[in-house]
Amino acid sequence: MVCHMNEIRHIFAGRRAVLVTMHGKESVIGPVLAAELGIEVMALTHINTDQFGTFTGDIARRDSQYQTAIAKATAGLDASDCDLGIASEGSFVPHPEVPWVTINRELVVVVDRRHDWVIEGWATSVETSAARREVTTCEAARAFCDAVGFPAQGVILRAGGAAPTLFKECTTHAAFDAQVAQVLQTQQTIHLETDLRAHRNPKRRAVIQQAVAQLVANAQRICPACAAPGVRVVETVYGLPCEWCGTPTNLRKAEVFGCIRCDHRYEQGSGDGLASAEHCQMCNP
Ligand SMILES: [Zn+2]
Ligand SMILES: [Zn+2]
Repeated sequence: MVCHMNEIRHIFAGRRAVLVTMHGKESVIGPVLAAELGIEVMALTHINTDQFGTFTGDIARRDSQYQTAIAKATAGLDASDCDLGIASEGSFVPHPEVPWVTINRELVVVVDRRHDWVIEGWATSVETSAARREVTTCEAARAFCDAVGFPAQGVILRAGGAAPTLFKECTTHAAFDAQVAQVLQTQQTIHLETDLRAHRNPKRRAVIQQAVAQLVANAQRICPACAAPGVRVVETVYGLPCEWCGTPTNLRKAEVFGCIRCDHRYEQGSGDGLASAEHCQMCNP
């Protein structure tokens, strides 16, 4: 086990990886993979990733988040001479218990054609900039922009009903105000929404960064049975026992790690193994 880092360097170091992105994700993903795994990331910007689905709803996402990420990475591999393909895919969904809260879930994958395995990293955040508003005046449009942090955070204008026109590329207040004024000449309301694309969304870039950190941690975890990298959490076990009476609580007790290549799984406890009595149904009902 002491030679893990050397094995990892041996697997990844000096390899070139292709990253398909239209939205500048190489600046978020590339430096970390270079520093931690020795992978040289090159961005491929000419593949239209919108074909895999967009957030603005003009093209619906066909597959699950995971399948979409794999499809993007595979498209990059097919279009290059690399045998490592990287892709990132995000989703914005309502929180299952608090529906008015939006969850941003980010996935980054490394598809390794040389070894025929996929290494993944996930991150989840409720700190999103997802917001939308109908406005009828330039002043109201400007207020929405100020509220969401434009221009660092992008704002999309949606004009028209059944077949709306989207204006996504305003990056200055002057351009935005001019676009709003122009649309308001021909219609009464404009639908504004925050741009969820990575290069126009600082909060999302932070979550992608966390997903990359998890990917690196997974890549550095080697399967004790078959020596493949990429071992990741496949299950969370709840029921940490109460410190006073031993009753299982709702707190996390352990994580089950699973290999990406073989069937090997192992459990690893979290913390000191006891829950504070305040979480106990018996001691603190
Ligand atoms: Zn108890
Ligand atoms: Zn294994």
